[in-house]
Amino acid sequence: MELDKMDENDWKYHGEGNKSLVVSHVQFSRVLRLLKYPAEDSENPPQTAEQAFRQIQNIVDFSSNVMSSFLGEKFIHSGEVVKLPLEFVRQLSIKVQHQRPAWRCDKVMDIYSGCALCLPNLTSPGLHQPTHTPPLCIEIKPKCGFLPSSKHVSKDIKTKMCRFCMHQHYKVANGKWKRRSLYCPLDLFSGNRQRMHFAIRHLIEEPQNNFKIFKGGQCVYSSKEGSDDSVDLNCLLHHLRPYLLHGNNRINSHMTNKAVLNDFIQVLVNALMGGGGGGEGGVVMDRCGEGRSFCEASVFNKERIRHGSQGLPSESVLFRILQTQKLDTLDIEGLYPLYRRVEQYLHDFPKERTCLQIDGPYNEAFLEKLQKCPTEDDGSVEYAAAKVHQYRVAMTAKDCSIMVALLPRSEEEEDDEGLPSQRRLKDFISSRPPAFSYSVSILDLDPKPFESIPFQLRLDQKIVSCYQRTGGALP
Ligand code: ATP
Ligand code: ZN
Ligand code: MG
Ligand code: MG
Repeated sequence: MELDKMDENDWKYHGEGNKSLVVSHVQFSRVLRLLKYPAEDSENPPQTAEQAFRQIQNIVDFSSNVMSSFLGEKFIHSGEVVKLPLEFVRQLSIKVQHQRPAWRCDKVMDIYSGCALCLPNLTSPGLHQPTHTPPLCIEIKPKCGFLPSSKHVSKDIKTKMCRFCMHQHYKVANGKWKRRSLYCPLDLFSGNRQRMHFAIRHLIEEPQNNFKIFKGGQCVYSSKEGSDDSVDLNCLLHHLRPYLLHGNNRINSHMTNKAVLNDFIQVLVNALMGGGGGGEGGVVMDRCGEGRSFCEASVFNKERIRHGSQGLPSESVLFRILQTQKLDTLDIEGLYPLYRRVEQYLHDFPKERTCLQIDGPYNEAFLEKLQKCPTEDDGSVEYAAAKVHQYRVAMTAKDCSIMVALLPRSEEEEDDEGLPSQRRLKDFISSRPPAFSYSVSILDLDPKPFESIPFQLRLDQKIVSCYQRTGGALP
């Protein structure tokens, strides 16, 4: 990519979140992730070009030096900051504007700094085998997978019902979504295949912004916010079917819709339980006891568990994300007083902000501060700052996305694995799900600002009181 010869015609709209807009290259497996800011400020950028550059460099550093040490390097692509010609960025913003969903247009793309984050395109990976079949990529934003057990939690309901499920009630009550999702993160993170299957089925039924499918780099399945329509399952099945015909079904393609969906979910569960990619999964690794935690809001019927489970494999992406989320040991209610301690100290000694690395740099020293945090509160500002740092890392892990890229293995490759005739016979009689090569990545690992902590406390209170007011009564 030659930065001085950028042409907006080589790039197309790919997607966006709350804080950034992403464009993908039409030919190479690359994306540019650009910052967004509130539309009211469109004439008046909230930060200088230097500040924008620093912000994106902070994202890269946080991802590569901090998050990757918790989540595992193999899952992380931190990318690099690039300086783009302003004319290119302006043309690009005009080009993508009409493709942006209306409900995201309260924010505008930053066209003033010329800075962006350049990343590999995880929805069109150059997987090892050249193939004619486009890869199928599934993006899951799993959210928080455990119930708080901190003694600082003041409302009993928070120890029984997970944050995601309570937040669903709040979002429906406030009109953000028409219907509640029955997905519960505790089921996904359980390591129990049945519960995971159940969780993914509900992600498919009500994707909201927690589930998307890309085929050959194009988003083919997602929720349309504000729309009354439920998602089009038939359209999804139409995309999935060719990937899931296998064994005897390759010859006789009478697979029912239900079987296609079940196989797809099973492939996804395998990828999420595996060690990250390259293979077919199924490698035996240490298992780290099943989270005994159940969310009272989950509609999964506990009696349905037929097989006990050994929990998530310690090398799996879900295990790593969950462990990182659990750096939030105090819950926002226990953390907030420590935030206040730091804030008060900074009020008295503003220059100490740099020394405490409140806004980075996110380097080795930052990582060390949060890893060497004493277990007991010694009343110091250093302890408070380290707990705040830990909480911010946990927040990032509660907000990240997982991208699973699937590439069907050709019949020849499958045959390589053993005696071809045996394999075919086995396929014929066992109708096991088809084999895929897969790779798993984690994206969206931005540091959450120090200043967002009071907002987190208020949101927590609003969600809990909304739930208690409505008694969980919902359509
Ligand atoms: P959020 O609101 O979830 O915090 P965000 O504004 O931080 O989102 P991202 O989640 O990083 O932005 O990116 C928005 C979307 O762009 C993602 O959900 C994903 O679909 C797509 N995307 C981001 N990075 C990549 C990548 N490297 N390859 C492919 N697609 C990507
Ligand atoms: Zn739940
Ligand atoms: Mg995101
Ligand atoms: Mg984000």
